[in-house]
Amino acid sequence: MTRIICTTLLVEKSPQALPLGAACVASAIKHYPGTQKECQVKLISFSREDKEILPLKTDEQKANYIADCLLKEEPQIVCMSVFVWNRTIFELCASKLHKHNIIIIAGGPEITAHPDIFENSFDYTVTGEGETKVPRLIEKIILSGGKKLAKDEILSCYTNASTTDLSLLHSPYLDGTIDPTEFGGALWELARGCPFKCSYCYESKGEKTVRLFPEERIDKELELFAQKKIPQVFVLDPTYNANKERAMALLKKIARVTPNTFYYFEARAEFIDHQMAMAFTKIPCALQIGLQSADENVLRKVNRPFNKKQFVKNIGILNQEGVTFGLDLIYGLPGESFTSFREGINFAASLYPNNLEIFCLSVLPGTDLFDRAAELGLSFEETPPYNIIKTDKFSPQDKIKAQSLAQACTYFYNDGRAVPWFLTICHSLKTKPADFFHSFYDWAQKNKLDLCCCEHKTIEENQIKFIAFLFKQKHQERYTQAATDIIRFNGAISRRTATGKSEKIRLIYPPEYIDSQYALDLDFFVRNVKPHPSTITI
Ligand code: SF4
Repeated sequence: MTRIICTTLLVEKSPQALPLGAACVASAIKHYPGTQKECQVKLISFSREDKEILPLKTDEQKANYIADCLLKEEPQIVCMSVFVWNRTIFELCASKLHKHNIIIIAGGPEITAHPDIFENSFDYTVTGEGETKVPRLIEKIILSGGKKLAKDEILSCYTNASTTDLSLLHSPYLDGTIDPTEFGGALWELARGCPFKCSYCYESKGEKTVRLFPEERIDKELELFAQKKIPQVFVLDPTYNANKERAMALLKKIARVTPNTFYYFEARAEFIDHQMAMAFTKIPCALQIGLQSADENVLRKVNRPFNKKQFVKNIGILNQEGVTFGLDLIYGLPGESFTSFREGINFAASLYPNNLEIFCLSVLPGTDLFDRAAELGLSFEETPPYNIIKTDKFSPQDKIKAQSLAQACTYFYNDGRAVPWFLTICHSLKTKPADFFHSFYDWAQKNKLDLCCCEHKTIEENQIKFIAFLFKQKHQERYTQAATDIIRFNGAISRRTATGKSEKIRLIYPPEYIDSQYALDLDFFVRNVKPHPSTITI
């Protein structure tokens, strides 16, 4: 029996960071006729947040730790899933494993992007989907008695294997390779490929076709999630709602089979209509929508068609129907200036997203953007995570300012769960969201706040202090108490929803008015609502 380990180092410990790629390859090796009987396959995953790995300072120490864990299993072959965040660690780890004559096969996005540069680090590199190529390669390695295969032998394993027939794959959930309960949730792969070609995405150079996993497999996985009472599922289908009929049918099934599971979808705003929005309200779920920039010219440069009017209209439908959604923005896109990036924040925040995720552009090898970087005037880091350094319109100083806005937004808006009242406060202060985040960042620096802390009670106290400071600065202290009550009330409700625990809060204004349309306009509120202190239980 050949002992094989499929492994990866995950970016964090969360249901979203489940080792699905490594599990799919492990599952394929288990079922491939040429390896099925010859191999014993084990999936072992690590996370950068593991208590043993987190305190380790250098990549070398982390690599040594992972190698020691793998060596205990006495494998003959190790298959590594390589990403931007684990590339260096796995290269170091492989060199340690080589001393024990272990054969290393590496695949994943980093290898796919530039297989040639890894030839000295790993014995075999596999680009693209690994479920067909890796089992064939292992079969050949076993037949050769572990001798290094010649180039043509390797290539023969890869012939006709670049796009796997999804109907032939076995589900790693259904065959027990991976247990989603261990991770507190599941990544649910419904499709591969994308009809769009955004330049910064790995899909930019892929085929435009979307391949769907068979309905039968999807149904069985859904049943499994129900049986195992999986609390949350992240749907892997970059344009889930592009095919309305299919999306609606699956939402119905989800509502019937797993009514208590929370689902996260990636969606395209242009395909949203009332019927689809209503279908999303029938299950506990949140949509994440890529806006990336509010500037149509910038988006054109990265091959993302964008119709601002339609975007506003369709997001309005989500708000009307009460669908929870978040928006994504990217700074450093070609043609984006710091001013237009700030406009993007103002535009996005005006649409009431539940969360606003702001990322730095990564110019990933293997993407169309990487190929066109020079022509577009982009300079970026040569090593992972390939973040942008500057562009023709975005200086390194702009990047630092954008980073601080992103940090302020994450702390104050996302982790601070500020969506119910954020625009009301901005309106009263006559300030725009980006200016607000800028002032908050400066204030946080002066007051030495730890913006990495995400304990909601602490954030809430800081939100209240900052808003009191702003109202005082603008001689609008008459709004401070009402704003404080609105923040406390909504904060307590969000904690109650998240934890299920009741909480007592002291309010100065009556809760029935705080929880009403009156609270959307602070000036109207303080002129019309009389203080009436009380302590209430949420
Ligand atoms: S970013 Fe999303 S929509 Fe664009 S090509 Fe990639 S997967 Fe498709």
